[in-house]
Amino acid sequence: MKKNSLVLTVLFVGLVAISLPASAQRGRGSRGGRGRGLQQRRANLVTVDLTVEIRESLLHMREEEKLARDVYLTLSKKHNSAVFSQIASAESRHMAALERLLDRYGLPDPVVDDAIGKFTKPEFTQLYNKLISQGGKSLVDAYEVGALIEELDIADLISGVKMLEANTDIERIYQNLMRASRNHLRAFASRLGEQGKAYTAQHLNQKDFDKIAASPWERGHGRSR
Ligand code: ZN
Ligand code: ZN
Repeated sequence: MKKNSLVLTVLFVGLVAISLPASAQRGRGSRGGRGRGLQQRRANLVTVDLTVEIRESLLHMREEEKLARDVYLTLSKKHNSAVFSQIASAESRHMAALERLLDRYGLPDPVVDDAIGKFTKPEFTQLYNKLISQGGKSLVDAYEVGALIEELDIADLISGVKMLEANTDIERIYQNLMRASRNHLRAFASRLGEQGKAYTAQHLNQKDFDKIAASPWERGHGRSR
């Protein structure tokens, strides 16, 4: 009987451990393995240790969505095409979705200055300047810039998703952003098509780019969240 009651005690302790409120589980060191799924489902309450790569991806995507918004806002003033301002407002919602994730995980926001063309990472400042100069040349060039930004977004979100467990909060947001980016890519690719211009993919492989461009518009809850 002694052995049985020990087993029961262990079982009971185990049950208490898994039914503890999230706050009590914090810092128990049960990361990885079985504790992880539970913790991530409660990610809005629990501080989960994100890997350096995931943290870097969140910071990068926050600025990359800003790059998209800023380039489209600038191009919307240059060209008489509503597509840029329409997509720019989706990009500000994407920026907000990433800001919420940064807040949730206690990461510092790299967007310290929300003004157009201001970035923390020098690579985004360079890319912004390059893309607005390229996109300023003609409407077709501007559509090409749009296609380029969207394929860059999709490629970076794909690498992010590969590092994330399925169905966690970050993964779900990345999937939503990716779906919106595919729709944006379709918008720019179809306008390029109307102008008789074939687009050469630079961040995705051409087959993947063409496949997205040729597939129908995707709907979904939180279309552009
Ligand atoms: Zn976006
Ligand atoms: Zn986009």
